[in-house]
Amino acid sequence: MIQPFYASSAINRHGDYRSNDKLLNTMITKEDTKFIPFYNGKNLFMEINENIKPVIFNKFQLNDFLPNGIRDTIFLGVANALNYIGIDLSSPNPKFDFWLKENNVIIDDLRKYGPILDDIDASFLALSNGMFFWHNTHKFCGSCGFQNFSTEGGFVMKCSNNKCGKSHFPRTDPAIITLISFQDKVLLGRSSRFPDAMYSTLAGFVEPGESLEQALEREVFEEVGIKVKNIKYFNSQPWPFPASLMLGFFAEAINDYMKIDYDEIEDAHWFSINELKSLEHPSISGGFKLPRVDSIARRLVDTWINRFN
Ligand SMILES: [Zn+2]
Repeated sequence: MIQPFYASSAINRHGDYRSNDKLLNTMITKEDTKFIPFYNGKNLFMEINENIKPVIFNKFQLNDFLPNGIRDTIFLGVANALNYIGIDLSSPNPKFDFWLKENNVIIDDLRKYGPILDDIDASFLALSNGMFFWHNTHKFCGSCGFQNFSTEGGFVMKCSNNKCGKSHFPRTDPAIITLISFQDKVLLGRSSRFPDAMYSTLAGFVEPGESLEQALEREVFEEVGIKVKNIKYFNSQPWPFPASLMLGFFAEAINDYMKIDYDEIEDAHWFSINELKSLEHPSISGGFKLPRVDSIARRLVDTWINRFN
């Protein structure tokens, strides 16, 4: 099985610990517990010996910045017998801001460094980001409007209104992503939101009441006017930026005639294996780029190319 990025199999989320408040409270006081900071929607990194590493705190460092105690935490899980806890350090804190400056801390998007990080670190950072994004967008109950509070190690946001008391659970939005082939060519397109010159497989969110296959057929037809057959599941990729799960498929076009909807995508072409390898295409001046290496789009393309090796 292919190991997706941001989903290390070395992590045990230990859902059984989440209801054990005593255990979670003790964990926060342990010297070897690792705290992963979340800071205004970003992560913190440092350059150490020319390598980029995520900033991960222990309790002594946090106590320096947080005289009122360690709060706003989410229990993320266990790896190599160490407990990992996410902590939101976004609240105004001059002492912490000074520390960030003094240590030349890089405040940036996980996606920028994800592919070069250790598998366990990248996975905990991704999980922590997705969870804090969910916390920050679920501060109030969607049913009655009262404030929610965090419980179950952070994995439940519960309504504080006694008459309601609804429990809210983390959300993940399924999206299909598909490599469409016709004989020995594959279809890649680009959205205006993509980095310059990048072409990728087609993707779209699954709508309520829709199967994955129907979502795939609909998205492909909407974007490029192509009907597909032989839909085959490939693999999945968590993409908590902020809350997606990408479900990868291969599918075959019934013919290669494209009718692009330019409101949906900016451009699309059929690419031969040689074009994929050389990153040159007769209709794209100056060449093109494939998707980033930590994406399932790239793994779909690479898997396709390797079939012909
Ligand atoms: Zn409520």
